[in-house]
Amino acid sequence: MVHNFNAGPSILPEQVLKKAAQAILNFNDTGLSILEVGHRTPLFESVLDEARSLVRELMEIGPEYEVLFLHGGATTQFMQVPMNLLDDAGTAAYIDTGVWSSKAIQYARQFGNVKVLASSKDANYTYIPTDFSVDPPVTYLHITTNNTIYGTEWHKFPFSHGVPVVADMSSDILSRVIDHSRFDLIYAGAQKNMGAAGTTLVVIKRSLLGKVQRKIPGILDYQKHIEAGSMLNTPPVFAIYVSLLTLQWLKEQGGVAAIDKLNTEKASLLYATLDSLPIFRPTVATQDRSRMNVCFVMKDGKQELEQLFLDRCKKEGMVGVKGHRSVGGFRVSLYNALPLSSVKDIVAVMEDFAKTHG
Ligand SMILES: *Cc1c(COP(=O)(O)O)cnc(C)c1O
Repeated sequence: MVHNFNAGPSILPEQVLKKAAQAILNFNDTGLSILEVGHRTPLFESVLDEARSLVRELMEIGPEYEVLFLHGGATTQFMQVPMNLLDDAGTAAYIDTGVWSSKAIQYARQFGNVKVLASSKDANYTYIPTDFSVDPPVTYLHITTNNTIYGTEWHKFPFSHGVPVVADMSSDILSRVIDHSRFDLIYAGAQKNMGAAGTTLVVIKRSLLGKVQRKIPGILDYQKHIEAGSMLNTPPVFAIYVSLLTLQWLKEQGGVAAIDKLNTEKASLLYATLDSLPIFRPTVATQDRSRMNVCFVMKDGKQELEQLFLDRCKKEGMVGVKGHRSVGGFRVSLYNALPLSSVKDIVAVMEDFAKTHG
């Protein structure tokens, strides 16, 4: 038995893997592999249509939004967002909550002015800044809703002043009930919580587009993708299919409300254990704890236990527990597909380890 706590690419539901494997051999009893069908055929068009409509249904997205499945990962969106939305003379506001938002900031600077309204870099990104205000004129505000590397997550969205909000939701997309209508553009690489690497979900309010002067290469122009229905060129067929299967699975689980409840239960159990044991210390501010990526270290004076704990996890078939190099310690990711039983198992290992070494 393997427990997959990887941060990304990460665990997918077994049912998704089985169906994806089957579709590689024989897709929907066509005698063809999903890898062999043309993207402009009814076979694939129905995959894309259903994936789009499940995104609308599960995220409760209104008709004023478009749903795109693009190539290039979230990193391409760091560039594509400012290229499409920010004029040379315009100013975009960013909140810096870690490596990914810093990259987004760096990319945006190539297209216009960037104001970093707040940053938690001073404390190695262990909290979400709240002390900022968004003062127009600002073209948009950009946030990273879950900071995969540091384990912080925005639980409140303290802005409601008419400035469009762009959010990188790569690592908490479809994990919790939030009012998506508060966002004007949402993007997420699929490989953390909604499928396989290779496609990126973009949900965008149509009214945001058509406002910049620069010439945008067609393949990077949201408007062109919308007109072509995510078929400007060959879409990442298989990655979109895996997203479809993951979305279907999520709907069967009871949708976002049901997975929110389960994710809360998983995270609460793990944090309660960390808080109660004498050897571990969660690294982030309590109010900003992520329910997707739980980061912790050994308490001061106990650091020599770090490798021992990693060895123990390895022995128990637990993969992906080592923290990111910029934080150290441990990171346990609790994405939608991770069952509660895996959390119970790692909690039992932690308790046993603390009894022996505490
Ligand atoms: C993983 C991740 C990225 C980078 O995604 P790619 O698809 O590899 O470009 C960006 N933002 C967040 C929040 C991430 O977790």
